[in-house]
Amino acid sequence: MVTTLENMKTKTCNRQMKLFFLIFLMAFTFATWMGPWAQAQVFAKKDATSFYKKSYEEARFQFLESVQALQKSDGFKIQQQAYADPIDSQLTSNTALIQTKSAQPATNLIVVMSGLHGIEGYIGSALQSKMIEQDLDPKNSHTDYLFIHALNPYGFKNNRRVNRNNIDLNRNFIIDPKDYVQKNTAYAEINSFLNPTDTVTLNFLSRTGFIFSAVKLILQSSLETLREAILKGQYEFKDGLYYGGHDHQYQQIFIDQIASQTFTKYKKVFALDLHTGYGQRNKLHILADSMKQPSAKQLNAIFTEDRIDYGDKKKFYRTTGDLITYLQSKSTPTTEVIGATFEFGTLDSQKTLGSIESLRRMVLENQNFHHPANAETTESVDLLFQDMFYPQDLNFQTEVMAQAQTEFSKIVGQYK
Ligand SMILES: [Zn+2]
Repeated sequence: MVTTLENMKTKTCNRQMKLFFLIFLMAFTFATWMGPWAQAQVFAKKDATSFYKKSYEEARFQFLESVQALQKSDGFKIQQQAYADPIDSQLTSNTALIQTKSAQPATNLIVVMSGLHGIEGYIGSALQSKMIEQDLDPKNSHTDYLFIHALNPYGFKNNRRVNRNNIDLNRNFIIDPKDYVQKNTAYAEINSFLNPTDTVTLNFLSRTGFIFSAVKLILQSSLETLREAILKGQYEFKDGLYYGGHDHQYQQIFIDQIASQTFTKYKKVFALDLHTGYGQRNKLHILADSMKQPSAKQLNAIFTEDRIDYGDKKKFYRTTGDLITYLQSKSTPTTEVIGATFEFGTLDSQKTLGSIESLRRMVLENQNFHHPANAETTESVDLLFQDMFYPQDLNFQTEVMAQAQTEFSKIVGQYK
């Protein structure tokens, strides 16, 4: 019995050894076969949606990391700068001038800017990092890139669209100082509707009341007239929506510096400003000021005329003090500056109901900022506002990346 048992033990032991060896062999073969593939994954493209971050700090960190990674690659040389908010030095706008390493200096510059409207920086920043990591072509020696990250870091950090002075920076880049004292009478007439001074109440009744008042106003004029009156900007009500301020903000100083020191080294500059919130959901709208502006011909050649929503086309509106128009005014006889805005629609604001809902969220956020309600209401208001500018919807976020890549490649293609 003992011998048999010993034999059995030996047999079992042999069998275990064989099995162990077989598993080891399989694991070794698998690892050898997988090795190069696993390595390739380290350098493979990130999933586009991984570029979306949860805070201004995370977004800035990612931007700086993307730039640093590019610096290590062979194709580009990079100059970086940080412009601090004059009141809080922790808040910075960061720039990266990315130049191809060619013997002849490039003649074209593509500028990509994010976060002029603070909270819209989440998407703008994600797109910038994605472009830096995946969409630049070092072989195109005629074109350099300038990325400006978080133009309004205060707004980005605090999930506001405006800056700390309640100023809408895309109404603040005034060229003629007389525009700072212009009157928007149509806005003034509905100021109490746009900027209520009581605290926010969120319930069915208050929502219906807002919709009812908005519909009444639309019936009195038209959706287009009302939209233009509200959105074109105003320079009178400092706590109100779309307030353009009464003088330039600090951002204008460094934008001027960039224009005079960097733009002037190139023959052609294309400025792209990234925004969210306006227009059909899941759609990238390309906005430009006027069909009659000198750059319209070139913009049409890049994107086609149908693709561009000019402010003076039917159903659209023009604004005062926008950044792209300001930058275009920096053209000189030797440097031509043109540009456009990419706007990713979120709430179908081209339709009447979407337009009213967009306005309601804008009103609520601004009202609650100046006349804060309790914590619970504040949280609900903030969520509605964030959903308008940074929807946590995978389909939206994927579409943004794909459509931006398509349109951005048209700009890159034109400046070869
Ligand atoms: Zn915007």
